[in-house]
Amino acid sequence: MMSAEKKRGTNVGVVVSRRCLAQKKILRMIFLISVTIFSFSMTIVAFPNKADGKKVIEIDLRGKSEPQIKQLLQIYPDLGAGAYRKGKLEVVVTAEELRQIKSQGYHINILIDDIGAYSKDLRVQGYFDNFHSYEETVEAMRIAEQRYPDLAKMYDIGDSWEKTESIADRDIWALKISDNVTEQEDEPEVLYMGLHHAREIITPEIILHWMNFLLRNYGKSNLVTYLVDNRQIWLVPILNPDGHNYVFTKDSYWRKNRRNNGDGSFGVDLNRNYGYMWGYDDIGSSPIPRSDTYRGTGPFSEPETQAIRDLVEEHNFVLSLSYHSYGNLFLYPWGYIRQNTPDHSTFVSISKVAVSRNGYEHGNAASGTIYTTNGDTDDWLYGEQITKNKVFGFTPEVGEEFHPPESKIPELIRENLFPNIVIALISGMPLPVEHPVFGEAIAALNAAPLDSSLGLAISDISEMERFFINNDLWNIFDDQKLFVQSAGDENYLGPSYPNPSNPETWIPYKLAQNANVVIRIHNSTGKHIRTLNLGNKNAGIYITRDKAAYWDGLNDTGEKVSSGIYFYSIRAGDFRDTRKIVFIR
Ligand SMILES: [Zn+2]
Repeated sequence: MMSAEKKRGTNVGVVVSRRCLAQKKILRMIFLISVTIFSFSMTIVAFPNKADGKKVIEIDLRGKSEPQIKQLLQIYPDLGAGAYRKGKLEVVVTAEELRQIKSQGYHINILIDDIGAYSKDLRVQGYFDNFHSYEETVEAMRIAEQRYPDLAKMYDIGDSWEKTESIADRDIWALKISDNVTEQEDEPEVLYMGLHHAREIITPEIILHWMNFLLRNYGKSNLVTYLVDNRQIWLVPILNPDGHNYVFTKDSYWRKNRRNNGDGSFGVDLNRNYGYMWGYDDIGSSPIPRSDTYRGTGPFSEPETQAIRDLVEEHNFVLSLSYHSYGNLFLYPWGYIRQNTPDHSTFVSISKVAVSRNGYEHGNAASGTIYTTNGDTDDWLYGEQITKNKVFGFTPEVGEEFHPPESKIPELIRENLFPNIVIALISGMPLPVEHPVFGEAIAALNAAPLDSSLGLAISDISEMERFFINNDLWNIFDDQKLFVQSAGDENYLGPSYPNPSNPETWIPYKLAQNANVVIRIHNSTGKHIRTLNLGNKNAGIYITRDKAAYWDGLNDTGEKVSSGIYFYSIRAGDFRDTRKIVFIR
């Protein structure tokens, strides 16, 4: 809906450069060279920009002492929360900082030489059209509220820092979804947050998709209807509106909010500003204003974190997800210390279910899944038990980069739908979740085939029946279309999966009438390479692996096709449609 068609249309021409972004080091270096040439030719007319000259580098930590590493982490957060485990640190530095790091004997590898030029190149390509801006996010929430006034209501929960200074007019918006949405009911409450960190731009998309998924499937899916009727679901897609705007317009690697620190530096790291064990030590949390992990002058010094504090203290949230990127991780407390909480088994058992489909690694500082930090959201949600009840807070770290290629966006959104559902469900279940009913549910969920439904046949477990009703079947969708088994009344060609395909792929589709179905595959020059004759098919849904069209990655003469971009077209009666497929060997 909304701007999606516009978005599709504006991005046809930039597919190739997106692929560069996706394909790691070598292609990244080629991209870097082209960016460097571009920026060199623009030096005379370029506007000065804080991002100009900043670099993304990889520091080799192997052979370095623990104090040396801690000293680095005090100033530089690991971008992906993942490189650290491989003995590397991926960080943003100025040219001067790079010189200092080198002078201390570190081996470094430059990944992006000039973030200013890199950011400008992304803008010129229209890359950000793939994502909702702050204004578009608010608009999407407004549309949802207007279309579903009985189920969705927006709440202004606070101002961004720039609004408090009358520099900009950005509110922090929450949207509540429930039946009787305007009333505070007794139903369990659950909180979903996105974009503490400005550059993690996939995270509002996940929350907006979850919003639309719930609203559009209410009354169609028994499970969704159950959740909306029996939970109070709060969504905060963008906690850091100023930072988000700054990423879209100036510096695509910006992390913090946009507070003017008064010393020439800007920004507080909102995920170091919460009030539980704030400033416990200087590892992964810095007292230095120019640091990317600057924790602010005191706990909850920032209007953005105050907004969450106040919201949580006014409500009785049971569980929460705070989306970040990246790392393919699913984190829980403690963050400030290498110890488990007294509720460790509950954190672990919930995590196991939540990641059972997307395969994210779950853990905390104690498990070595991430370095220690303090002042983060989850530690406060769980640890603060005087001003509010304890909340089981989790942080998914989505994907493998801040700027995922267009082709990966639907998959990153899709792989987080299941955790969203799980968290909403569990928020109304008895904790700790060693409860025998829950154990059965975990087993059933984990036993379900990947592309099957959540509407599993757990019919013998009476307590679970109301959660998982047979015949709900949805799973393959992109940001525009949802499949619900009962809604087979339209033609549709879906996105192939997995995506990128490696090497085999399934192509889902729906038929409004009986038809003879043919799918033809073309390469990027339009040359036909393979015909899949599927024969006569009845009207219905062909989504799951046992029903979708299957392509084995071979051409018509049985040879393996090479990596690249392909297109697949469907002919079924009068229905014609074409979609893109990224194929990797
Ligand atoms: Zn983050």
